Amino acid sequence: MIARVQPLTRTRAVRGLFDYRLAPGQQVQVGSLLRVPFGSRSSLGVVVELAEHSELDPERLVEPEAVIGAGVGADLVALADWMAREYCSTPSRALQLMLAPGASTGTGAKLALVAELTPEGRAALGDPRVRLNDRQRALLGALAERGPTVASELDTSGLRRLEGRGLVAMDRRARPRRPARLQVGSASAAAPPLTAQQAQALAPLVAALGRRDPDHPGYLLQGVTGSGKTEVYLGAVDAALAAGRSAIVLVPEIALTPQTLWRFEARFGDVVAVLHSALSTGERHDEWMRLRSGEARVCVGPRSAVFAPLPDIGLIVIDEEHESSYKHEGDPRYDARTVARERAARHGAVLVFGSATPRPESVLAMTRLRLSERVDRRPLPGVEVLDMRDRHQPLHPETRMALADLRRAGGKAILLLNRRGWSNFLSCRACGRVWLCPNCDVALVLHRHGQFIACHHCGHRARVPQRCSACQSVSVARHGAGTERIEHELREALGEERFPIFRLDADSSTLPQRARTLQSFQAAPAGVLVGTQMVAKGHDFPDVSLGVVLDADQTLRFPDFRAEERTFALITQLAGRTGRGALGSRVLVQTLAPEARPIRFAVHHDTDGFISDELARREALSYPPYASLIRIVSSAEDEALARETAAAIHAELASVDAAVLGPAPLFRLRGRARSQLVVKATARRPAIDAVGRAVDRVAPGAARRGAAVSVDVDPQ
Ligand code: ADP
Ligand code: ZN
Ligand code: ZN
Repeated sequence: MIARVQPLTRTRAVRGLFDYRLAPGQQVQVGSLLRVPFGSRSSLGVVVELAEHSELDPERLVEPEAVIGAGVGADLVALADWMAREYCSTPSRALQLMLAPGASTGTGAKLALVAELTPEGRAALGDPRVRLNDRQRALLGALAERGPTVASELDTSGLRRLEGRGLVAMDRRARPRRPARLQVGSASAAAPPLTAQQAQALAPLVAALGRRDPDHPGYLLQGVTGSGKTEVYLGAVDAALAAGRSAIVLVPEIALTPQTLWRFEARFGDVVAVLHSALSTGERHDEWMRLRSGEARVCVGPRSAVFAPLPDIGLIVIDEEHESSYKHEGDPRYDARTVARERAARHGAVLVFGSATPRPESVLAMTRLRLSERVDRRPLPGVEVLDMRDRHQPLHPETRMALADLRRAGGKAILLLNRRGWSNFLSCRACGRVWLCPNCDVALVLHRHGQFIACHHCGHRARVPQRCSACQSVSVARHGAGTERIEHELREALGEERFPIFRLDADSSTLPQRARTLQSFQAAPAGVLVGTQMVAKGHDFPDVSLGVVLDADQTLRFPDFRAEERTFALITQLAGRTGRGALGSRVLVQTLAPEARPIRFAVHHDTDGFISDELARREALSYPPYASLIRIVSSAEDEALARETAAAIHAELASVDAAVLGPAPLFRLRGRARSQLVVKATARRPAIDAVGRAVDRVAPGAARRGAAVSVDVDPQ
């Protein structure tokens, strides 16, 4: 037998499969992970095909060195091939996303020394004539109570002495590293009776499970926070399991939304496995193995869980489908929503997206199901716009008053400002110089805590300047306010006694610390949570009665066709998380653009109106979903080289049936000049293929001169 192997290399230069001769009886399948001799070294590789014969001289074929770990299923090998084409990447890079966590670094099952009572030990426990000191008696008692136990959790040397007397048996076993369960909020094993709307949404999903229709575009469950979407997902997972199939549930970020995970674990128990970045590689490896072995049949996780090694997938759910975290920023720049659609089709699985603010493309493509009111029937909060033109304080007087009232009444508020740090930028009052990053063409942001200025793109840091290096003036102006400054202002204005102020942003802490901040805010009877957009994600605080968006039009100032969609989603998501408390509810939107379209629609909770307006606009401008965008960026230390590379790719695209815009310069990033092309195509597949070929022709030569090219299909 011959195994055709895809070597797992990072370089694009290695193309094609390599043949290896299998030893008789060697257990290898499509998807097996092998260590193979590769040139003068050895390399990992995945078996892509098995064949009887090779076109190469059989004498020259060598055998693989070893089979490693569990490999992946044949379905994922085929999916990797599809991904490589869909995202102008390589099968090798796609496969590396799919292997067991740590597979390439040799993270295997962990062996632990496990102790358990022998029959003699059990007898000794009840026999006062056996000489045992208190410590030994306690150890035997613990084993009697707990069953087989990892020795180091008790007392390894004490147990060794008992083993010597034949009272305890010890051996090394594989112990699954199970992530600790975070029990958050109340969740129960039993499903509540569904509301009429929930039942109406669930029925078509259950019916679709039996059809295995690969051409169905999937279902879009649209309903505000608290309308019972998660309960519908739980019902659909239950139906998939009952049909003997498996399920994948994608969530934006588990560390920030632990209650969702906990509801799945509480309902389905051990058949749920989690894969997320806050787990150690070992824990993820073992959870992954539970899925691969069939012990777990439901995988809950962030975007990478779309590759969960499950057979016969019956259901793929994507919660909060509008979230940008479903897009992967490394090569291949895949979109988990698009991959989920492809994987669902290949398995005949039911695809369900859910959101309060779905993307226009999902509305256009999918079958819509609705949950039109909250389960508790509370109305959505009133949304008021506060005009910030001609105001020089970051907080509007109305906002200050609402916060002061809330403090007196002992309620909770969430303040959202999508800008971290203290001030946006610094400038010299005498000569106008703005402090820029030396590596990127962007302004440095002041962080008062620690007294430094930092680049939010490359991480460059410098001391806060005392004087201008150009004109020596000591008058340095600070412009704009970030989350740190707002936190400070709130402390000044409200004090902290019995009214704690929590801050949540990428600066404030690590992921687990952020999860704890959220838990503290949840547990506090009163207080304010200030933060970037992460405060409006996933989590659900039933007792928040005031939501405030600061500088709501900030997202509109980005030159991006999704800017309006983001702004609308941000306000609406915050409103959805507000107003289930006893104190009534209100959302205040501070903005310099009170007439902006997304803000007007958000004030009226008019999601449908916004989406149909947005679809009309996109159709007129040929933006997605009416066309596909492909972004090609070349970068080099030398600006001319970056531009020439982009121009060369443009020339290669001369005959493609699509609009090619650029080359246009982008701001310098990490010391590299950048140049961008944007391809706008109605015929998606031929355009992707043409871009792939053009990049393949230009990139190798450009790389030799120091230019790098990246391709982003469906950029965010
Ligand atoms: P969403 O996912 O849309 O935010 P959830 O499914 O989390 O909504 O439901 C909101 C709240 O209502 C949760 O606390 C949930 O336990 C509860 N809930 C959902 N469906 C029902 C039901 N049919 N009966 C009783 N409570 C429900
Ligand atoms: Zn100056
Ligand atoms: Zn920088």
